[in-house]
Amino acid sequence: MVTENEMTLVELCAVKGMRMTDQRRVIASVIESASDHPDVEELYRRASAIDPRISISTVYRTVKLFEDAGIIERHDFRDGRSRYETVSEEHHDHLIDLRTGKVIEFRSEEIEKIQEEVARRLGFKLVDHRLELYGIPLKKDESE
Ligand SMILES: [Zn+2]
Repeated sequence: MVTENEMTLVELCAVKGMRMTDQRRVIASVIESASDHPDVEELYRRASAIDPRISISTVYRTVKLFEDAGIIERHDFRDGRSRYETVSEEHHDHLIDLRTGKVIEFRSEEIEKIQEEVARRLGFKLVDHRLELYGIPLKKDESE
């Protein structure tokens, strides 16, 4: 059986009963092939390079539609723009380079465990979390 995680965005849209226009299809594939958490303007640049008829408002509306359907995730990395990625199979957290805005994905089993423990101590079962680290690159002598 194919789980939802193995489906492409276009397939997920079909499962959710979304009407797929050519433009939505292009936007879905642009989001899917991105690994850099692009914002709407960047998605618009990429999508309109493939299909020049795509307007920025179409990108806005489509992204909102996908987000409301729970098939893409929105992040706010404190630079005032919403950034998007597909909902991933494996949970990961983000480290943001404050100098360049570059987003680095990571996963720490230690942090995952600690968070569950903290929630449990407070009387909760942890079902979700978001963690964002903000940093600047170490100088050479600091990292050694
Ligand atoms: Zn990510």
